[in-house]
Amino acid sequence: MAFEEKSGNLVGLGLEELENLALSLGQPRYRGRQIYHGIYARRVRAFASLTDLGGDLRDAIASQHAIAYPEIERQFASRDGAVRYLFRLADGNLIETVYMPEEDRTTLCLSSQVGCALECQFCFTALLGSKRNLTAGEIIGQVLAVAAAQNLEREARLNLVFMGMGEPLLNLPQVAKAIAILADPQGVGVSLRHIAVSTVGILPRIEELARAPMRPKLAISLNASNDEQRSALMPINKKYPLADLLRVCRAYPLRSWEHLMFEYVMLDGVNDSDADARRVAALLRDLRAKVNLIPYNSGPDLPFRAPPFERVVAFQKILLDHRIATFIRISRGQDISAACGQLSLEGVRMKSAKVPGHAGGGGQGLEVGQ
Ligand code: SAH
Repeated sequence: MAFEEKSGNLVGLGLEELENLALSLGQPRYRGRQIYHGIYARRVRAFASLTDLGGDLRDAIASQHAIAYPEIERQFASRDGAVRYLFRLADGNLIETVYMPEEDRTTLCLSSQVGCALECQFCFTALLGSKRNLTAGEIIGQVLAVAAAQNLEREARLNLVFMGMGEPLLNLPQVAKAIAILADPQGVGVSLRHIAVSTVGILPRIEELARAPMRPKLAISLNASNDEQRSALMPINKKYPLADLLRVCRAYPLRSWEHLMFEYVMLDGVNDSDADARRVAALLRDLRAKVNLIPYNSGPDLPFRAPPFERVVAFQKILLDHRIATFIRISRGQDISAACGQLSLEGVRMKSAKVPGHAGGGGQGLEVGQ
């Protein structure tokens, strides 16, 4: 199923796999490391640029393999500097990646799946339904393709957030493989402290992540202040209710520098009252937590709206008064339908009239590493 395997794409292969490839071609193992370094650290796209390999080996590899990134189908530049990329995968599926330049860092919001199975009521990606997991190569490919399109230097400081389309913890093997290469100093070289995985709270997968040797930061989409509200917004809450979620969060082994991040999408008149804020404060009381309040990014096909900004500020103040570090994350790229899912759904809609409509979603504007 992985298009890498079919088309012989090298992007997505780990060091050992590339070493084995070298050995299978009758070459010494270190050739694999040279290819690995070329693809991920030097971000080479043409075999001709792998000059350290020698011509014969280059030709032998090029005859059967490719260094392929997802193709840019469309891109939308926002007035605020964000650029939203709609990528076409080798099988024709569409995914989205958002580029958000900031003063000292650049944040990339990555997709982990095509569509999503979780049916969060406010999310536009949910309207696409569940299609398939991305491969590690398609995840890393988003980073390499945006870096190439934006001429990002190798030294450019990146934040990577898995807050685009899909639920990363339902694709943990490929997400973890991608992160291992993205965070490897000999690979793409993004520090693990600057990679965040956002989840609705798939509890067994959070426990698995807790034991992972290369562990990114964890962000939990809380989005509600009690079970009734959360189950209505996020059906997964019926399987993993708040008490269980918070128990797993309390047991999560935070590193000395780390906070658990909680995202809270603010929906006008739904989850934005003072009482909600007080309940959230009570839920998070005994956790080393940071909260990101995300005013909802609306679109015509879903009935939710962002609250007035004063409401968001009042909600933040209540959490701050309870000594919970709380940030307001203004969604970037509002003028380019920057909520994840929106462009893909439009892409699907262009081909078929059956899809219900305009999509959005996504946690753009979120930051890690602060
Ligand atoms: N499935 C994962 C990651 C993708 S969604 C998760 O749910 O965490 C990333 C974040 O974007 C989540 O916090 C989600 O609640 C939020 N989100 C979804 N749709 C949104 C929208 N239209 N506006 C603002 N945030 C949204």
